Amino acid sequence: MTDLAVSRQQILKRIENACTESRRPANTVRLLAVSKQQEAGQIRALYAAGQIAFGENYVQEALAKQAVLTDLAIEWHFIGQIQRNKTRDLAAHFDWVHSVDRLLIAERLSAQRSGELKPLNLCIEVNIDGEDTKGGCLPEAVPGLVESMSRLPNVRLRGLMVIPAKTSSDGPDPFQRAQAVFEQVRSYHRVPEDWDTLSMGMSADLEQAIAAGATMVRVGTALFGARSAK
Ligand SMILES: *Cc1c(COP(=O)(O)O)cnc(C)c1O
Repeated sequence: MTDLAVSRQQILKRIENACTESRRPANTVRLLAVSKQQEAGQIRALYAAGQIAFGENYVQEALAKQAVLTDLAIEWHFIGQIQRNKTRDLAAHFDWVHSVDRLLIAERLSAQRSGELKPLNLCIEVNIDGEDTKGGCLPEAVPGLVESMSRLPNVRLRGLMVIPAKTSSDGPDPFQRAQAVFEQVRSYHRVPEDWDTLSMGMSADLEQAIAAGATMVRVGTALFGARSAK
């Protein structure tokens, strides 16, 4: 096995162990390989080891890699901050966008997604710790956004994405607070049809996220090694 295949097996094992701890079936958590600042060749090698879903943070960087990987059936996820002038590229070249935090962005993605493609899967990014510097909507805004976004054509609202603050605050676990917001949506009169995704947990904290119900963990460093400074 290549080094990348070995690290992937190690992450899958961590996911499996975390699921066992929480009495969840292992197939309820997907691994998203975060390939920002990694070469296209690394993505190709990991794909050969069985990894299908890759996450990118920067639109131009992602498009350049996609252009040389068109022979692979990769599922592309966008997880970076969204500038409104980039929505057309996202709508044309991605399968998922995790970082939608306002209605305008969802409306543009919906309008710009070709009806010939499968609907674009969306997650609402929630700023669970209310940090000033962070993207994401406040937890209180989620109900209204779910209501409006689930009516849009050509997109499918799947759930929430969360990146907790680096410095852990006192009080309840941020992942558990995110889970509560996620579950609250299920109690709505009109639950979005495919409300099934809680995207949270990274290299350092995926166990904690899985314990709180994560269905997709986004792992970069623990798979590929440290990223080059940017
Ligand atoms: C970079 C990044 C990750 C991966 O983080 P690692 O600590 O390298 O696993 C996950 N999610 C988002 C939104 C990121 O930007």
